[in-house]
Amino acid sequence: MRLIDSHAHLDDRAFRVDRAAVIARAFAAGIGIITIGSDLRSSREAVRLAERHRRIWAAVGAHPHGARHVDASTLQAFERWAKHDAVVAIGEIGLDYYRDLSPRDVQRRAFREQLDLARRLDLPICLHDRESTDDLLEILREAPGEHRGVVHSFLGGSDLARAFLDLGLHLGIGGPVTFPKNGALREAVRGVPIERLLIETDAPYLTPVPYRGRRNEPSYVVHVAGEVAKLKGVDVEDIARRTTENAVRLFGLTI
Ligand SMILES: [Zn+2]
Repeated sequence: MRLIDSHAHLDDRAFRVDRAAVIARAFAAGIGIITIGSDLRSSREAVRLAERHRRIWAAVGAHPHGARHVDASTLQAFERWAKHDAVVAIGEIGLDYYRDLSPRDVQRRAFREQLDLARRLDLPICLHDRESTDDLLEILREAPGEHRGVVHSFLGGSDLARAFLDLGLHLGIGGPVTFPKNGALREAVRGVPIERLLIETDAPYLTPVPYRGRRNEPSYVVHVAGEVAKLKGVDVEDIARRTTENAVRLFGLTI
């Protein structure tokens, strides 16, 4: 079986001791990984990892938490790295009004600047949205035409899924789809065309059942695929194949 974990943070210090083993377990299970930058340092690390491994790709970008550090030189660095073949997206970018680690107007500015960058470089985007959906949708709707990218760790219901699909976006489904309380999310996934679904871990966070409570890693993405397969009423091999095709198409991966 071949799978793509479309959103992981392999640079995270949770993998400091055994990163090579984590990557080896994923590869042994047929899993390719898009590792996502969240600031300058982690974006640089993501590019390095992607340079070293044929089945790892990188996204470069600044998470809304660190929006206050985004300046012209940050954007120039992202632009420089984005020219690399192994860099396939700008992300993760967006808004986070739950933790509010950067002022909201600064988050919106950094988000708009990185959306512009992605458009200029013709790269898809990886979006982060936490308790900021109204402003996120408003900013996305400012741009003409459709967007190309994925709402990572989508947690909403059917109406919100529809709003993102209408903007041309894919939905990234992760570990929370396996959590008992997330019935509305499962209902939403049932209604989303498979062509618009990606699967992800967000490792080391959001560990799926049955490993919930432990550190997450890309090899656990099979448990997300299993749950999505159940919801769509198809075989897990089918979900693996089709979400891999989606990732290949969206990010232009060579596998
Ligand atoms: Zn993430």
